[in-house]
Amino acid sequence: MDLGIRGKRGLVCAASKGLGRGCAEALAEAGVDLVINARTRGEITQTAYEIAQKYGVQVTPVAADITTPEGRAKVLDAVGHTDILVTNAGGPPPGNWQDWDRDDFIRAIDANMLTAIALMQALVPGMMERGWGRVVNITSAAVRSPVPVLGLSNTARSGLTGFVAGMSRQVAGHGVCVNNILPGLHATDRAESLDAAVAERESISMDEARALRQATIPTGSYGTAADFGAACAFLCSQQARFIVGQNLLLDGGALNVTV
Ligand code: NAP
Repeated sequence: MDLGIRGKRGLVCAASKGLGRGCAEALAEAGVDLVINARTRGEITQTAYEIAQKYGVQVTPVAADITTPEGRAKVLDAVGHTDILVTNAGGPPPGNWQDWDRDDFIRAIDANMLTAIALMQALVPGMMERGWGRVVNITSAAVRSPVPVLGLSNTARSGLTGFVAGMSRQVAGHGVCVNNILPGLHATDRAESLDAAVAERESISMDEARALRQATIPTGSYGTAADFGAACAFLCSQQARFIVGQNLLLDGGALNVTV
């Protein structure tokens, strides 16, 4: 399907690997010129090179921590203006609800709520002026069904979801569609580290931990970064103009819910 976005400009945050890279690849395949970001210079530079080679689009890497004001300033400087914004950052660590202190919560809220909001505040006004824009925030299935050990994530991402619910309706009249994608279990480094946490907690092997977690998914396997990227690119397409303020759950049917 032609997504109708060839020649548009996009920013994908936290994109040297995993779900962010999946989104960057799918947008590049649709012909979008990109700025992509991650903290590790060597990895983001290599990813930018590979995507540019494979899809023949411009890809500018920016090594910066997107969760800090300085990092965002560096990224925004490289972007100038953009038509498409995909917000993403590493997720908070697992733990126990009784152990987290104020600083833990502030760090999680900064990374997984306020960073996305700051990027939208910086870039959506330009999209509104130009009469076209797409924003996808990568959140988590934990927004629909909390993961007890990921309380910091449950908290921060729910705050972002509430913000988007209101804000998306305020900008839709200017041709800007803002939505969230809620990943369930996908085969990325993040999934590996959560498998490892389960293996340690249950005193089982990594393979057993992975099998335990995959058994909770009706499709029987983790999603891939490419699955995720395809959905993201569709939400950034011309065809998605009537999709506003939605929370798209990508979890292989894992949440046993009706709506
Ligand atoms: P991943 O495979 O670990 O990749 C994370 C990417 O983000 C890397 O490119 C990393 O590069 C970059 N990154 C991390 N922190 C950053 C920061 N502060 N500033 C800039 N870039 C940063 O993770 P993933 O699985 O793709 O997950 C992406 C998001 O989806 C996370 O928030 C995660 O919690 C959430 N999620 C994932 C799953 C899943 O099953 N994979 C499920 C639910 C939610 P550098 O380390 O070089 O910065």
